[in-house]
Amino acid sequence: MTEAAFDTSATSAAQVTSAVQGTPAAPAGVPADASAHEAPDPDAERAFRDAFQDVFGRPPEGVWAAPGRVNLIGEHTDYNDGYVMPFALPHTTRAAVARRDDGVLRVHSANMRGGEGGVVELAVDSLAPGATEGWARYPAAVLWALRESGHPVGGADLHFASTVPVGGGLSSSAALQVVTALALSELHGVELGRQELALLCQRSENVYVGAPVGVMDQTASACCTEGHALHLDVRTLTQRQVPFDLAAEGLRLLVVDTRVKHAHADGEYGKLRAGCEAAAAALGLPALRDVAYDGLDAALAALPDERLRRLTRHIVTENHRVEEVLALLDAGRTRDIGPVLTAGHASLRDDFRISCPELDLVVDTALAEDALGARMTGGGFGGSAIVLLEEADEERIGAAIARALPRSRQFVTTPGPGARRLS
Ligand code: ADP
Ligand code: MG
Repeated sequence: MTEAAFDTSATSAAQVTSAVQGTPAAPAGVPADASAHEAPDPDAERAFRDAFQDVFGRPPEGVWAAPGRVNLIGEHTDYNDGYVMPFALPHTTRAAVARRDDGVLRVHSANMRGGEGGVVELAVDSLAPGATEGWARYPAAVLWALRESGHPVGGADLHFASTVPVGGGLSSSAALQVVTALALSELHGVELGRQELALLCQRSENVYVGAPVGVMDQTASACCTEGHALHLDVRTLTQRQVPFDLAAEGLRLLVVDTRVKHAHADGEYGKLRAGCEAAAAALGLPALRDVAYDGLDAALAALPDERLRRLTRHIVTENHRVEEVLALLDAGRTRDIGPVLTAGHASLRDDFRISCPELDLVVDTALAEDALGARMTGGGFGGSAIVLLEEADEERIGAAIARALPRSRQFVTTPGPGARRLS
């Protein structure tokens, strides 16, 4: 097990971790507290532009922001052509950007210290899948993908700072990709729809970074809107913005970052995806999305081994849970989504087997304190959990979780806006 690489809200040198990944850093020009809502703040805006000037010796042409996300329900269903329902966090990755005309890409991140803390300089012509190491591969991949798609995008200087906990299962990586894609496409006059932009970012991660991820995270960052969860049918790419106003109903959603990430997380993702594809192939179907909920027992009976049965059961029941949550939200029964979230956790723990002791501890502690529902969120093997609770229980449940897992960080959240230009 390794600790989360770094944390934007880190305040203590004791939280320094991997020398490869860099050390914690509170970026200039953005709130140091990751729980802070990012209302327009002229001082922070100026400080962020000044930071770009300090790094690159000239002013930026503009500033963009893209959010991290919480997935409310629909885990690992995206690469099975299924349904997901994430919403955007108020926490964002910001980019100050200016074009260059010499074919050079330079990137810098206020979140990185140590070995990865400096400016990374790359020749645009040399960008190729697998060619870039470290965090810079994410923005490099996006520039590569834009050019691969035939868009006339050249070099640029980019300075990033994020309040999304990095490596916390809240999609700091997608925020980094989406803010890069939005800034570069807008600066170069490339007209991309938001879903198209998300697909381009996914492709950049699949091909250039070499991670076989689905399209949920990038779509959430690019397409979510304030006050809504986003229902996405990944096969048809049909989107629906679903009103999700917890405060109006006296409810709260607590995000708990366990600040652990188990070392095998990245390798397991590919194996899970391959397992799901093998199960669909064994059933003669294009994807597990095509197993109807009421046809689950028959599908399970037709599968050759226990692992494929477990994976299939999770995906089919999880797609059903997304549709259940959608129906409950449509009916104004927000409280009633709690047990559905909790059932989703059990499925991820027992069938998909991607939870971990720390996530289970957070969920079990919350439920023992009468939370309405709780589940791990994101890819698994660490990262974050979400807890739905009554407003009146917020302090008690939050304190119980903090006692049970003192290393964790928590914040109450509401759905924020998707990616946008700030100035
Ligand atoms: P998550 O997306 O859940 O936060 P990932 O492991 O998918 O976790 O992505 C984290 C990685 O993304 C980091 O290790 C780093 O390479 C990159 N990254 C994300 N945000 C930043 C940032 N603000 N600055 C530099 N690198 C970042
Ligand atoms: Mg990620």
